[in-house]
Amino acid sequence: MIPLLQVTPSKTDRERLLVVSPELAEVLTLIISRVRNGAERLPLVTRYDGAERLHSPPLPFLFQRPWGLANHILTPHRVKLLLDRTAAAAGLTDASGGAQRFTPHDFRRIFATEAVATGLPVHIAAKLLGHQSLATTQAYVAVYDQDVIDHHRAFIARRRGMRPSEEYREPTDAEWEEFLGHFERRKVELGICGRAYGTPCQHEHACIRCPMLRPDPKQVGRLAEIIENLEARLAEARDRGWLGEVEGLEASLGAAHQKLTTMQRVPSSASSHIELGATRGRI
Ligand code: SF4
Repeated sequence: MIPLLQVTPSKTDRERLLVVSPELAEVLTLIISRVRNGAERLPLVTRYDGAERLHSPPLPFLFQRPWGLANHILTPHRVKLLLDRTAAAAGLTDASGGAQRFTPHDFRRIFATEAVATGLPVHIAAKLLGHQSLATTQAYVAVYDQDVIDHHRAFIARRRGMRPSEEYREPTDAEWEEFLGHFERRKVELGICGRAYGTPCQHEHACIRCPMLRPDPKQVGRLAEIIENLEARLAEARDRGWLGEVEGLEASLGAAHQKLTTMQRVPSSASSHIELGATRGRI
């Protein structure tokens, strides 16, 4: 599933349909789930535009909250207050040591500035922001001196210049297949092997003891069986005086218990899904 975010046009923007990252999709899903509060759809509310002195048509605004008998949107003043509290709780300070303050609009500027400064072409950033004119986007990203951006780009170019030019070409089909295959081959009995691409297993495939193993919470039953088996083997080794075995089995058992704790801490991807209760694929 590819999460898409449909942005309703404001007075100056255009309607936009954007691909969003899984992290942002999760945050938006949480907000929707909280605002719906068990109902099938988001409540429709109107927004008063103080500058235009107009009420919007009823829309499923994301940032709304119950107030009295009905839901109301969070006003920019309220959002700013929440941002101030969050910045204060995080201990953020500005250059003069005073409390750091943000307006909601700052995040649009920060996004645009970061995106363009890290190489996104301005016309793509303009599309994402819904700007009709490139000049508007360029004004957004004027927060940083052009000098700073140029120095950063020169630094990246210098770093690239130090790498063999062979690395800066299109991969062949065979190389690409080999790269994808690496991720397939990282699946092991209890989860995913986290070793870097192109590196061999240094630990003789003793995954239960290996720090590179990222345990999959869905394999908790299998790990419980392994622990049971290790305990039985350890008891037998102690009974029969196989002291050489005891030490190794104790190490494996300790590592297995650690992996079990990790699995129990990380929610499985299936259980971390948020039930929207929506009857259609679109929210
Ligand atoms: S022992 Fe470690 S490095 Fe080797 S396959 Fe298992 S998890 Fe990966």
